[in-house]
Amino acid sequence: MQVFYATQFVLPLPPGHRFPMAKYQLLRDRLAAERPEIRLQQAEPASDGELALAHSPAYIKAISDGSISPQAMREIGFPWSEAMADRARRSVGATIAACRAALRDGVAANIAGGTHHACADKGGGFCVFNDAAVAARLLQAEWGRSRARPLQVAVIDLDVHQGNGTARIFRADPTVFTLSMHGQKNFPFRKEASDLDVDLPDGCRDDEYLQALEQALAELERRFEPALVVYLAGADPHEGDRLGRLKLSWDGLEARDRRVFDWAFQRRIPLAFAMAGGYGVRIEDTVQVQLNTFRVAAQYWQRWQNQPR
Ligand SMILES: [Zn+2]
Repeated sequence: MQVFYATQFVLPLPPGHRFPMAKYQLLRDRLAAERPEIRLQQAEPASDGELALAHSPAYIKAISDGSISPQAMREIGFPWSEAMADRARRSVGATIAACRAALRDGVAANIAGGTHHACADKGGGFCVFNDAAVAARLLQAEWGRSRARPLQVAVIDLDVHQGNGTARIFRADPTVFTLSMHGQKNFPFRKEASDLDVDLPDGCRDDEYLQALEQALAELERRFEPALVVYLAGADPHEGDRLGRLKLSWDGLEARDRRVFDWAFQRRIPLAFAMAGGYGVRIEDTVQVQLNTFRVAAQYWQRWQNQPR
């Protein structure tokens, strides 16, 4: 299974910054050590032209040359640096590469990404560029206009925070379906309208969550026919998360992942996934949740390879 990373480009953060930057390298190291079926590859940075499929040229320029206002950077939550801008591009590049690989192999991943709070002209909540949005638009362009219908993309966002940036970018686009399941009382406090929003109460547990997911997938299927799924497999619904406010167990999260991978596989819809958020009280727990996602993903990737082509 092809997995793309940008972990060698580490975002310089001041000491004590609350973003757990180390999780990406920890995840990559453990994948390399424990999952021989995974092929790790470095991602290329997304170009200005690719980013412009979902972002305004003025915003891309301001992030790239550092002319972005301090207030806009405060909303993102990182200090500006050239390395920050470069890393943000590479993280988008990794989701693009994962989507292309998924169309070939059935399942592929980005070790980072899932930066769903980024809108066309601004970032927010540790998100600079919206990797899923850029990748969906680029893959649609590559799919070609000569085909009978455009590439329909479903973004299944199970990070605990609403995918407000993705919802806003695609709000008038019938070719991309945005599904977000998130904590009702969690950030962002002003929500955007996704194609399908599922608000979850604080303290939501496995059964309630999995039932809501089942209903959401059924509704997605009634309303839309995706040819590609981009799955944001956030680790932050876990009960050990500092910011999540939900109470999903290890088993509950694994059942969540298995349901999404199985749903896509049963319909033979290629699926690319990205990590999105995870702020465990113990960083090892966040990494473990994400490793579990990769273990389940690799099983479905294997099932794709066993398909007659
Ligand atoms: Zn999140």
